[in-house]
Amino acid sequence: MAFHGAGRQTVCGDLFPGSDLGHKFFCVGSSCGGPSAGLGAAPGLTGPSAPAGTPRHPTALGGGAGGGAAVPQPYSNPASEVPSPAEMEPDRPIGYGAFGVVWSVTDPRDGRKVALKKMPNVFQNLVSCKRVFRELRMLCFFKHDNVLSALDILQPPQIDCFEEIYVITELMQSDLHKVIVSPQPLTTDHIKVFLYQILRGLKYLHSAGILHRDIKPGNLLVNSNCLLKICDFGLARVEEPDPSRHMTQEVVTQYYRAPEVLMGCRHYGSAIDVWSVGCIFAELLGRRILFQAQSPIQQLDLITDLLGTPPLSALASACEGARAHILRGPHKPPSLSVLYMLSDGATHEAVHLLCRMLVFDPAKRISGGDALSHPYLDEGRLRYHTCMCRCCYSVAGGRVYTRDFEPAAERPFSHSYENSLLSVWQGKELIHRFITEHQQGKRVPLCINPQSAAFKTFIR
Ligand SMILES: [Zn+2]
Repeated sequence: MAFHGAGRQTVCGDLFPGSDLGHKFFCVGSSCGGPSAGLGAAPGLTGPSAPAGTPRHPTALGGGAGGGAAVPQPYSNPASEVPSPAEMEPDRPIGYGAFGVVWSVTDPRDGRKVALKKMPNVFQNLVSCKRVFRELRMLCFFKHDNVLSALDILQPPQIDCFEEIYVITELMQSDLHKVIVSPQPLTTDHIKVFLYQILRGLKYLHSAGILHRDIKPGNLLVNSNCLLKICDFGLARVEEPDPSRHMTQEVVTQYYRAPEVLMGCRHYGSAIDVWSVGCIFAELLGRRILFQAQSPIQQLDLITDLLGTPPLSALASACEGARAHILRGPHKPPSLSVLYMLSDGATHEAVHLLCRMLVFDPAKRISGGDALSHPYLDEGRLRYHTCMCRCCYSVAGGRVYTRDFEPAAERPFSHSYENSLLSVWQGKELIHRFITEHQQGKRVPLCINPQSAAFKTFIR
């Protein structure tokens, strides 16, 4: 893709004031392990611990089949052999996803502020066990600047005490929902660079065969330099290639839900995420939710008010009730010209792209990858790769651009492991092993300091 204006100085202005984030929350290594007295199912209750920097305690790994015999052991290390736990101070919660709580914390290994996400109730039943394992594996799989990924996973306790999972990700300052409802001005440049990054991240996810299924402004994290990352994979799943297989319709926050899902279609694909992005694009322009309905039926009515009554061909996969509802109603002409009234930023180019995303029939909706080729996004691409990305770099003579501005995933995300997941206990062993193997040979492991007052509020 031609990239004119290379070397041009582009300043990415701060969008938010700096925020006061993060205090110490962790301790390093397994030194913070202690007996579970008074702490219930608290994590970090490790057994005999090794000095920081040495490989993980082997007892947790050796569980093997039927490892239920393992018993939490008392804390037996002489204090002199292990570093003392880092002091833990209260910190603040920064968000709540579909599942789990997120806190801002400080990594004691390098003082870096990061986000700590607790995945609770992992082992309640096989469904939650599978869901959490899928999200965990996805977070460890992702390698893309516009998709949130796991920087680390906290050391799990011995398998008998293993109830919750704690994942560390990069800490972002805000999300697009907070930005949209704030009084801060949002220029066309902001909108272009945000939309570019949303689609860039989405292209990567879809190329890995992953449907996000809950794209909404609150799941798009942003930093003061306008860097954006897609987060919260609690509802994400792998694409279903077999159209005869039914998929759940309990997906996507209603305002951003695609018409095919609203109409009870039993099989859907990546186009549902593109619809959500279209709604967000309009919301960025108008700073109000595009289709804000009280019920799924009203949601569908608002959509047809804008797009007009869909042709019969677009209703092929709809359930009987939804089809009857549309055919029973008055014939509506499209009223897409109202999109020009969203704001001054709603130019011909903007509305053209918007209308390619907000297409009723998913088969005719533009793909995330094709949307990136729309001329509306050229300036967003330029801005992103001139001063925000990590794939290009500057030399004395100017900017050296990457060969692939919008990379796809190197391989699809594999979920074949799910077939062998048949019981909660087996899931517990698999997840325990996955985390342990994921950490091996990497940095000094971290665990929670259960003595901390902040920890007690965190586990609630
Ligand atoms: Zn770049």
